[in-house]
Amino acid sequence: MTKIQKALHEIIQELPPQTGLVAVSKFHTAESIQEAYDAGQRIFGESYVKELQQKHEILPADIEWHFIGHLQTNKVKYIAPYISLIHAVDTPKLLNEISKQGIKCGRQIPCLLELHVAKEETKYGFTPQECMDYLASGEWKNLKGALISGIMCMASNVDNREQIAHEFEEAYQFFHQVKDRFFHDNDSFCIRSWGMSDDYPIAIEHGSTFVRIGTRIFGQRLY
Ligand SMILES: *Cc1c(COP(=O)(O)O)cnc(C)c1O
Repeated sequence: MTKIQKALHEIIQELPPQTGLVAVSKFHTAESIQEAYDAGQRIFGESYVKELQQKHEILPADIEWHFIGHLQTNKVKYIAPYISLIHAVDTPKLLNEISKQGIKCGRQIPCLLELHVAKEETKYGFTPQECMDYLASGEWKNLKGALISGIMCMASNVDNREQIAHEFEEAYQFFHQVKDRFFHDNDSFCIRSWGMSDDYPIAIEHGSTFVRIGTRIFGQRLY
């Protein structure tokens, strides 16, 4: 077993059955991804469209690619034909574009709304109020090419365990409010994407159904 495969196995053993793993492979080589693939991993997360395009072309076709980073509206068209899940939808404009491109490809692209729970101002995402207001507007119901499938968030990048737990819990409660109010009869709305290398055990305690882990599997990224 390689170092990557060993790390992958260790993480998978820690995950409860309801929590899936997105192996975050941005800035890592196709060879590293292939190693994880050979150990059985099928879901990989990327943050840059050009890099994703290159990897998608050369790696096995049964990989499920997730886009986890900030996505620019003008780049949606490149990934629309094959992307399995877009994690960080942070504006109605982006969701509209995803739907438009989804329709062109004859598919409904699964998307998560990014909730801003971190205390840092630089992070993207809807505030809980903005997200509720947007959903209450009902506009999204006409978007035939996008499927709102859950909520994504990133906790503050701090050492304070309590604060991180509080932020994930806020996202968890918010998910249920949204589910009850807008998606109670819709089974597709079921994904909670939170938890990264440094905080995924806390995320799992607060109901994460996808953790997005890079460094713990592949090592440090060389930017
Ligand atoms: C890079 C990235 C991750 C993975 O971060 P690690 O700390 O390497 O696990 C997870 N989520 C998002 C949105 C990212 O951009």
